[in-house]
Amino acid sequence: MSHAGLFVVGTDTGVGKTTVAVAVIGQLVGQGVRVGVYKPVSTGSADGLSDSQRLWDASGRPLSLAKVCPQVFSLAIAPPHSARAEGTTVNQRLLLDGIVPWRQVSQCVVVEGAGGLFSPLGDTLLNVDVAHDFGLPLVIVDAARLGAIGRSLATVRAAQASGLRVAAVVLSHTHPVDVSRANDPASDAGIARASAIDLAARLAPIPVAMLAYKAQQFSQEIDWLALASCER
Ligand SMILES: [Mg+2]
Repeated sequence: MSHAGLFVVGTDTGVGKTTVAVAVIGQLVGQGVRVGVYKPVSTGSADGLSDSQRLWDASGRPLSLAKVCPQVFSLAIAPPHSARAEGTTVNQRLLLDGIVPWRQVSQCVVVEGAGGLFSPLGDTLLNVDVAHDFGLPLVIVDAARLGAIGRSLATVRAAQASGLRVAAVVLSHTHPVDVSRANDPASDAGIARASAIDLAARLAPIPVAMLAYKAQQFSQEIDWLALASCER
């Protein structure tokens, strides 16, 4: 039973968590690590490939898709509200226990939360509570656009104040940018690069990486297995 893992959480919803999680999983699988993947709850997966499917595909499809995400609700709103719209509630016991089968078959479990660190997963449990219960360090994801420094620092400091360890921060490009303009400090690419450099200086030794639009490789080498295994 392995307790190594990473909890991928956003500064907000729609900042590129799944793409970052898939890149982390891809790197670990490439190193020969048996990776478990867990999405405690998801909502609004009607459009295209669901987060859970993408996580499962990246990990090589161990166990079953139903084990990746045991609780799915159709309306693309906060999970407890989405469940209520279906006349039910999120099973909070299952939110916490759904990781156990993954720990039994994996060396490392990559968990993708839903929304931001303080977004609700169930009636009383927030992402921060579930990450705490799992004892996992966080990978904090923000969109690589103006405001990233403030949003990322707010989430990092709140995580640390909540007793969580921050393994890494990733700025994820959720839209294509013109990288040839990276030397223009006011361009999207320039803002993203300067934000990552600024955050790295403020957060050292916590690694800060960028992930280009739909990329599978980070802007810098990060030893995800070491970060996932590091006891506190
Ligand atoms: Mg996602």
